[in-house]
Amino acid sequence: MDLELVTIGTELLLGFTLDTNSAFLGQALADIGVRITRRTSVPDEPAAVSAAVAEALFRTRLVITTGGLGPTQDDLSKHAVAELFGAPLEFHPEIWETITARFARMGRTLSERNRCQAEVPQGATVLPNPRGTAPGLWLSGPRGEVIMLPGVPGEMRGLVREEVLPRLAARAGGTVVRSLVLRTTGIPESTLAERLAPVEETLAPLTLAYLPSLEGVDLRLTAWQSDPHAADRALESAGARLRERVAEHVYGLGEEDLAAVLLEDYRKHELSLAVAESCTGGMLGARITAIPGSSAVFSGGLIAYADAIKQELGVPARILEEHGAVSEAAVSAMASKARERFKVSVSVALSGIAGPAGGSAEKPVGLVWFAIADAEGTETHRAVFPGSRQEIRIRASQYALWRLWRRLRAGVPPTAAPTRL
Ligand code: AMP
Ligand code: MG
Repeated sequence: MDLELVTIGTELLLGFTLDTNSAFLGQALADIGVRITRRTSVPDEPAAVSAAVAEALFRTRLVITTGGLGPTQDDLSKHAVAELFGAPLEFHPEIWETITARFARMGRTLSERNRCQAEVPQGATVLPNPRGTAPGLWLSGPRGEVIMLPGVPGEMRGLVREEVLPRLAARAGGTVVRSLVLRTTGIPESTLAERLAPVEETLAPLTLAYLPSLEGVDLRLTAWQSDPHAADRALESAGARLRERVAEHVYGLGEEDLAAVLLEDYRKHELSLAVAESCTGGMLGARITAIPGSSAVFSGGLIAYADAIKQELGVPARILEEHGAVSEAAVSAMASKARERFKVSVSVALSGIAGPAGGSAEKPVGLVWFAIADAEGTETHRAVFPGSRQEIRIRASQYALWRLWRRLRAGVPPTAAPTRL
């Protein structure tokens, strides 16, 4: 079943209020197999509301609106939609009583303005709203159906759960729209797409979306309007086929954090970890310590920003002079010294040029060197990250976590080929 969503409110278009109602509805409706095929946001103007709802009805015959049911002047959507259905507004005394009782309970005085909230377009079904004053409304007519919900997110969600989903689910016939998200990192979107192309051809009717962020690319597989068991089976099998082709980059599912995944692996192997950071200035340590229980694995770290501090950590002055602070030799020394100092099984070091100034042809902005030291030896990596200073630092922290995770999972040091992300 398909429907369109019209969110009403001038504040949404001005950008003062984020349209969280749409996000909630997208997820809640997907769970019962209803697909939102288009979303429109319009200001609190009767003509705009009327046009948006009429067009949406023309396409899908089923529309949900949120907002514009309040008692204020700007809340005119009920009138606009009622007019579209040729349904005059009727005063409902029983709704008025509920509103008066609610105000009395809260010790608030009622204004004449509120009377309009007890007006219902003729023939509409009233959806009781115990969390607020304006009830939801369900209108049916020759053009189709419009479900009008209040804009206040808590009230809207309550009405959706209690009144809207049960009715729509009964019609959707037990189908779901379900997704599986594979989290990847350490591979650019275009390379990922190349590697997955052969599998991608076999996915239909599932769809695959690439969702890039600073931490990597999420692969979202979606089964549309399918039986729940069939959806799960199809997602699992497709997920496995995708994973096979890029296994070394898939660190988790859904909203899993790479730092959490890494710490769990370290905990299982009874490994301890320390960091020596330059350009990330503690960001890597912060990512790790943000995970509850990190103390079982993480000993600590050093922000070795100035060369003097790198030397104090034990990096020979000769290395810094000959190769510079952003070099394979420097991070190797940082990692092995940190491992000794912190008496841990594994240490990771990184040093880079976060910009915006300080780049050169040989060492461009975004260049970061990484080293991981453990009992087996030291592995190094060179990567060049795009973006602003902050983005480079975030990408570098994620990359360090990924290399640590990889080294453990693979059991052998992966190739040290230069990476460009
Ligand atoms: P209304 O029902 O139009 O009076 O909306 C009441 C309040 O709900 C507004 O002031 C907004 O703060 C909030 N609101 C309205 N629409 C949305 C939306 N689409 N997403 C999030 N909040 C909203
Ligand atoms: Mg409003």
